[in-house]
Amino acid sequence: MSDHDFVSGGKPIGIERGEGPFLYGTDGTEYLDVGASYACTPLGHSHPAVVDAVQEQVGDLTFVDSSYPVQSREDAYAALVASTPADLDQAWFCNSGTEANEAALKFARSATGASTIVAATRSFHGRTMGSLAATWKDEYKKPFEPLAGDVEFVPYGDDEELAAAVDDETAAVILEPIQGEGGINVPPAGYLETAREATDEAGAALIFDEVQTGMGRTGSMWACQNAGVTPDILTTAKGLGNGLPVGAVAVRDWIADGAASHNATFSGGPVVTAAVHATISTLVEEEYPAHAAEMGDYLTSELEAAVGDDVREVRGEGLLVGVELKRGANRVARDLAIEQQVLALPAGRTVLRLLPPLVLERSDADRVVDAMVDVLGSNDDS
Ligand code: PMP
Repeated sequence: MSDHDFVSGGKPIGIERGEGPFLYGTDGTEYLDVGASYACTPLGHSHPAVVDAVQEQVGDLTFVDSSYPVQSREDAYAALVASTPADLDQAWFCNSGTEANEAALKFARSATGASTIVAATRSFHGRTMGSLAATWKDEYKKPFEPLAGDVEFVPYGDDEELAAAVDDETAAVILEPIQGEGGINVPPAGYLETAREATDEAGAALIFDEVQTGMGRTGSMWACQNAGVTPDILTTAKGLGNGLPVGAVAVRDWIADGAASHNATFSGGPVVTAAVHATISTLVEEEYPAHAAEMGDYLTSELEAAVGDDVREVRGEGLLVGVELKRGANRVARDLAIEQQVLALPAGRTVLRLLPPLVLERSDADRVVDAMVDVLGSNDDS
């Protein structure tokens, strides 16, 4: 047991600095961040490329209305569109994941003229009225009802139920290519293709919410590229500005046509787009998606080999890793923090989620594995 101070859930008091995959407390304690930054810092904390870009931009021009062309927004826009699958040629910036999904649902309605939304069980899309309506968990929704209407839920991963739910009343199917909050659920092969075929047939829009899966984490820039399926609308946020609050919606032309009126005051401001441009450029130039794939394979296989009977399954893609436990994930996350200075994140009751910055090295992955073995017991004990 360490003698540092923690608040409930094993959150250390007084995080004051970050560097790479590490966070440092006011007393100098080093924590390995495999969840504390929630997929928002793919390049690690305070990456110099992002820090420099933001500092320079904030000194030159912090804000001007988004109708004025600004270099940082144009650079970020070009980098974003170049990073997404071919055919997603137009984009809007916004301030968060929920706002990106809110726009996606609006755009799907305007492009199709239809209104119903098909979403999946165990989904999470955000906490504003529209995104929340497409989010599965009742406890997030009940106090705020009525939400935006017309959402039908189908079991995530079930091709037949999905195909059967989509018809000419459907404006959109919204899916996470791998579910994050719902427990790192990887759908069976062919599921995203089924979604593509069903929406094509019905003239509906296919929305992939890549807020948690995107920005190189799964081994490709976007998780849908692993499956070879291009949606009509792709939403992103979290890691897009390496920690600055920014999201985006990238769309095909047929979606963009009816969406021209969409805007927000802070849409793609100079400072956040300086961060977006620096983040995407660095991720691409330094090939971090490939590094994430390699580190993800290493971490997953080392974990599988080392941990004992308390682990049911290790699953995910790249550095989006879920460890399904036989005991409560909250307690394990707390023990990892307090005893091992490793900050992980639960995803549901029994899944521990590992979402480290993509700059993770083998020695860091080894530290995660050792910490898990200490907390959970090893194969040798079982
Ligand atoms: N979609 C997904 C898949 C998410 O994981 C989240 C956040 N956990 C959101 C949307 C909402 O993002 P934000 O908190 O930025 O609104």
